[in-house]
Amino acid sequence: MAKCAIALGSNLGDSLNTLKTSLAVLSQTPGIDLKATSSWYRTKPVGTPTPQPDYLNGCALLQVDQTPEELLTLIQAIELQFGRVRTEKWGARTLDLDLLLYEDLILEHPNLTIPHPRMNERAFVLIPLAEIAPDWIEPVSQKAIAQLARRVDATGVEKYG
Ligand code: ATP
Ligand code: CA
Ligand code: CA
Repeated sequence: MAKCAIALGSNLGDSLNTLKTSLAVLSQTPGIDLKATSSWYRTKPVGTPTPQPDYLNGCALLQVDQTPEELLTLIQAIELQFGRVRTEKWGARTLDLDLLLYEDLILEHPNLTIPHPRMNERAFVLIPLAEIAPDWIEPVSQKAIAQLARRVDATGVEKYG
């Protein structure tokens, strides 16, 4: 099995319920064990083309039998199951699932880049991820997640509930 980290986000509909249910769907998938989940965070949208609601974000650690490509197909199917509609790039969405890390793999395919190419600048990813995987070395920067999390501006990222 391979160790994998994912990011979860939602800013449309009943976000908390969507995020929790999507984790339940993942954990019930054959070949996937849910190992840890972060707290949830309310975060201000960053870099969005038009104004949109705050997000709920979190991260999870999985042990998986699936390849990265199989996981991408799976998370995209789960996004659709929760009613995600792709309109504008970086638009509001009911559910966004991103693959962050897969073991120490570095992969650049046309439709799949691992580690996630924007994770090292994103407080809304690094702060929850540092709760559950502080010592995981991000293979591109070769820095630990806790160290990357300390470097980002945490403004607009607040623990939820
Ligand atoms: P961002 O990638 O900046 O977080 P986003 O999550 O809004 O933006 P999407 O519209 O969800 O972007 O995804 C666009 C494409 O990104 C997907 O169709 C997928 O093929 C590709 N992609 C590349 N690498 C990854 C990854 N590590 N995890 C998820 N999707 C990825
Ligand atoms: Ca994303
Ligand atoms: Ca995505």
